[in-house]
Amino acid sequence: MKKISVLGSTGSIGTSALDVITHLNNFKVIGLSANKNKSLLKKQAKKFKPEITAVGRSGLKNISLISKADVVLISVVGAAGLIPLVNAIKLKKKIALANKEAIVIAGDLIAELLKKYPAKIIPVDSEHSAIFQCIDGKNPKEISKIILTASGGPFRNYSKKDLSEVKVKDVLKHPTWKMGRKITVDSATMINKGFEVIEAHYLFGIPYEKIEIVIHPQSIVHSAVEFVDGSIISQMSRTDMRIAIQYALTYPERKISTVKKLDLPSLGKLEFFNFSTGNFPCFELALTSARIGGTMPAVLNAANEVAVKKFLEGKIRFLQIPKFIEKAMKKHRVKKNPDLEDILDADFETRKFVEEMK
Ligand code: MN
Repeated sequence: MKKISVLGSTGSIGTSALDVITHLNNFKVIGLSANKNKSLLKKQAKKFKPEITAVGRSGLKNISLISKADVVLISVVGAAGLIPLVNAIKLKKKIALANKEAIVIAGDLIAELLKKYPAKIIPVDSEHSAIFQCIDGKNPKEISKIILTASGGPFRNYSKKDLSEVKVKDVLKHPTWKMGRKITVDSATMINKGFEVIEAHYLFGIPYEKIEIVIHPQSIVHSAVEFVDGSIISQMSRTDMRIAIQYALTYPERKISTVKKLDLPSLGKLEFFNFSTGNFPCFELALTSARIGGTMPAVLNAANEVAVKKFLEGKIRFLQIPKFIEKAMKKHRVKKNPDLEDILDADFETRKFVEEMK
């Protein structure tokens, strides 16, 4: 039995992960942590009997639930995933990573740490799991581009005017994936896809100009890799995160899963379209922050987290999300080559600034 800790066990990925762990029956859950949902955490603890449970960001407990595990699943939402990721790398763990914001805000820092410590990150994000499976240890020089697919979210064909009127309930209706609230909003603004470009850049060491977004409304092809000879290898499966989670846990092996197999004839057709960024300023802002680098991606992310929270609370409109992010980025003085403290400072300052914005 391998020992596993699930950080963020009460969220959408965390609960699916516990399903997968139950199904696989070869992991011992030794640690569970949650941000707020104490009652679900209590239920989970009753079933899995972990040695350690933690609520919130209680530092010491969180370190011991990483240090005692062989495998750590990080499915914490937002910048809060950064410290656990840094700790898991320093403790040389096998890391199943579902949190993308940590890579977005501290990509260079994480890359440096991975040179120093022999930890291994296996992506859980569906696109990155797909890319990981397509690359499968091949020489990066053989890759000509990464094709990152996007469903386009619920507002793919909306006009700017339509977008100005959307309500929280419209945003929370994602056409193909059932996910947590924060990432569902991020998918509607398409900032999620911007995050994923940055995530792919760092996880696979691929330059930005070799990462292409293709709209694929059916979300069956989870991403693809084009090789120098013109072959494209893609990964297809149902829109069920349990496949990507399970692969991250069983890698390099594959095990039977509980997810229903794809029936290609019943799908009929798969469509692919160009992505035009016009109505999705959040996507552009994400890539701009990556080009600027330093502490700017941390500002982008913190501003987005606060703006999304305000939107979900009904305090601001959908199109104010990019406006808030832009203001925060304009105000920020970038620090190049930031250390962890610089990144956390930028995160903290930006949250304060955007909290007060109207
Ligand atoms: Mn994704």
